[in-house]
Amino acid sequence: MENLFDLIVIGAGSGGLAAAKRASSYGAKVAIIEGDAVGGTCVIRGCIPKKLLVYGSLYSDLLKSAKYFGVKVGNTQFNTGDLLSNIREEINRLSKLHTDLLNKSGVKIIRGWARFNCPNSIIIDDNTTSNERKIITGNKILIAVGGKAKKPNIKGSSLGIISDDMFKLNSFPENIIIVGGGYIACEFSSILNGLGSKVIQLVRAKNLLKGFDSELSDSLRENLARKGVEIHFDDSLASIEGKPGDLIVKTNRNKAIRSEALLFATGREPLIDKLCLDKAGIKLNSNSIAVDIDNRTNVENVFAIGDVTNKINLTPVAIEEGRIFADKFYGKKNRIINYSMIPSAVFSQPEIASIGFTEEEAIQEYGESKVKIYKSKFRSLANSLQKNEDYCLLKLVVKKANEKILGCHMLGEHSAEIIQMASIALVMGATKSDFDKTMALHPTIAEEFVTMR
Ligand code: NDP
Repeated sequence: MENLFDLIVIGAGSGGLAAAKRASSYGAKVAIIEGDAVGGTCVIRGCIPKKLLVYGSLYSDLLKSAKYFGVKVGNTQFNTGDLLSNIREEINRLSKLHTDLLNKSGVKIIRGWARFNCPNSIIIDDNTTSNERKIITGNKILIAVGGKAKKPNIKGSSLGIISDDMFKLNSFPENIIIVGGGYIACEFSSILNGLGSKVIQLVRAKNLLKGFDSELSDSLRENLARKGVEIHFDDSLASIEGKPGDLIVKTNRNKAIRSEALLFATGREPLIDKLCLDKAGIKLNSNSIAVDIDNRTNVENVFAIGDVTNKINLTPVAIEEGRIFADKFYGKKNRIINYSMIPSAVFSQPEIASIGFTEEEAIQEYGESKVKIYKSKFRSLANSLQKNEDYCLLKLVVKKANEKILGCHMLGEHSAEIIQMASIALVMGATKSDFDKTMALHPTIAEEFVTMR
């Protein structure tokens, strides 16, 4: 039966790709449906192109520092058009690579947008290449459609752009307002500032990065401000007027700011509006798909993974959920995710990375007298010749009674790489004395984690 599958995966993003390939490797007949480019948010309009922009934006500081290392450079010019076009070329290559990998794995790729017909059949409207409509049936269906950026409901919001749009621009604007204080806002503030745009960040809260250790977010605020990002806290957007390229942005504190562009970095939500979930009777939890420990929805044969379930919205989590699903139902292997020990990073300048409890969370869980904080704040060797004010901040959150490390946090260069490796120790249950027993590797930044007193 050509249109009958063991598994239909909706969405060829990180989670969907991982599940489809793994299920197919166990011999399942798998179809994957995608209406956009294969690769999903992470590859096409998220982590990967963003990190490439980060690399590009780091050159301005490096070039400024060059003279202290005896390197004479001429006038620097940013051609963000070239950067964006090179990134698009790389993203097309990666999307093709993922398509080839699916083909090699024997997964059938179906182009178009999926919606439920009933719990085990899916209608695909292919308005990508034709206006054809197709119906396929699956013993199991896995929803892995991810999320989309949210825009607040204010006058003129259509004049603002979202992070997806940033990668489609011909070049970056000379000045921009970025709304939000989360991951995407802080990353794009750093990127655009590094690439020469004048950035104003509008944050409705009193600090950046809710959920991160507050000392780290305070340090990021200081660093961003020193690098020239103008951050307005405790204020939010009231309206946008004008025309694309020449906006008048009004805030609730009666500021009126003229800007070439405005980026909404105001959170994301599951991409479920066109899935016709009601046709299959799938229940929601607020606005995300409700699932149990096996990522099964309330409908026996329908599962969901990744951002559409709004658990922890990070690429590696979606990939692992996809593989665990395939291992369990097609490979007869049982594994579960430890959602409490997941590292994450903000690729701002400087970078921030964290795993485990923040100081605030540990105190709330165990009480102030039961928690010990070790920290170290210093200028790294890489910044010593230029004598700038950039610094690193490393922090360990430790449970006093058994010295178990509850959290490990860092701001500064290479934070993400360092915290990734520290995560292995924390997941294994490392104590402060395990860290102390580890010989320092000198001269590094990370050695501070094993020498803190
Ligand atoms: P976040 O949830 O991190 O931040 C959203 C920000 O927008 C918050 O500061 C929030 O304020 C603010 N906000 C929300 N609504 C409004 C509004 N109506 N007006 C003004 N401000 C508002 O979302 P992001 O969009 O930055 O990122 C989405 C998700 O994507 C992240 O949670 C993360 O899971 C993932 N991501 C991960 C990255 C990484 O791993 N490096 C990089 C980028 C994204 P408040 O705090 O007051 O609610």
